[in-house]
Amino acid sequence: MSFGDGIEKAGSYASQAFELMKTHDVPAAPPNFEVWYSYVSERFPDLKKTLDQMIDGDGSFDGMKNADLYETFIGHMDEKALVQETGGEIQNQVKEMLMALGGASDKIKGFSASIATNLETFSDDQSLGGIEQFVQNMMLETRRIQKSNELLQSQLNQSSEKISALQNNLEKAEQESYIDALTGIANRKKFDVTLRAEMQAAAKSGEPLCLALGDIDLFKKFNDSFGHQVGDQVLKLVAMSLHDNVKGSDLAARYGGEEFALILPNTKLQDAYGLVESIRETIGSRRVRNRQKGIDYGAVTLSLGLAEYKAGEAGADLVGRADAALYDAKDAGRNQTIMAD
Ligand code: GH3
Ligand code: MG
Ligand code: MG
Repeated sequence: MSFGDGIEKAGSYASQAFELMKTHDVPAAPPNFEVWYSYVSERFPDLKKTLDQMIDGDGSFDGMKNADLYETFIGHMDEKALVQETGGEIQNQVKEMLMALGGASDKIKGFSASIATNLETFSDDQSLGGIEQFVQNMMLETRRIQKSNELLQSQLNQSSEKISALQNNLEKAEQESYIDALTGIANRKKFDVTLRAEMQAAAKSGEPLCLALGDIDLFKKFNDSFGHQVGDQVLKLVAMSLHDNVKGSDLAARYGGEEFALILPNTKLQDAYGLVESIRETIGSRRVRNRQKGIDYGAVTLSLGLAEYKAGEAGADLVGRADAALYDAKDAGRNQTIMAD
């Protein structure tokens, strides 16, 4: 993050932020702090407006709401700045190219004008001296235009190299905007884009498509017992297990706070169930440990809801069915996968 507030101001913002976080029961995790510091310093007016509305509403904040605020208003600021900067640089490059081209066409205009003058002089004086003079002038002009063309060529080459480097920057920024900052796997934005594309592909090909939504069981208690930093480590472990256990066109994404999603193209409901259950068992069978400190935090389990895409169904409905199945899994005692009908 980049804040330019002086020491005194920053200190006052920080204590106001902590005060508000305490009032609203917000865990003192760094991204949460950044949200609330930004709120009191009014760094992002849209964030302030949204939070004000949330405070006026039910006033409750959990990790998920804070994570959403962070993602929406802060998480992508660096990429946005990079994209804006790159856009500006590309404009500058194009301006330089235009100037180079403009200069060249002036020279080319000068070239044809001087050929015309030479030609006129030559028609008036067709003596040997006149011919010699004409040839010499033409040679001079030709060399001049060759030189300016070489310069133009190298200017254009330089510009096109710079533009392709800028293009790479933009591609990199786009890729980064699809990554969840904490866990390094796909984020909600990537999930939304992929689900839409896979639903279209499935509707067209008639191939099956499954969606699983998973939520860590009793994670609040885990955080409360061992602290948010250990909680964050668990989120990373779960994310990695999901990511490492799917392949090909499958996608593992962090859907929100402690919720994850799997998009499984070309997979029938029963096969998806087998896969999801084996991943759930793998995660649940591991113990979370801090080897250095010799601490054993026990096991972390997941509940999952699984739904198969029905042709013509809206994305929100598919997500809604997977989510309802996830709640059934919670109601049925957690640490299990339930299929939507
Ligand atoms: P349930 O089994 O019903 O899902 O219980 P739960 O405690 O997991 O559910 P609840 O929704 O009550 O709490 C979710 C918790 O997840 C609260 C919040 O502190 C934690 N959480 C959400 N995002 C993060 C995060 O980014 N880091 C950490 N450490 N915790 C998070
Ligand atoms: Mg949850
Ligand atoms: Mg949970």
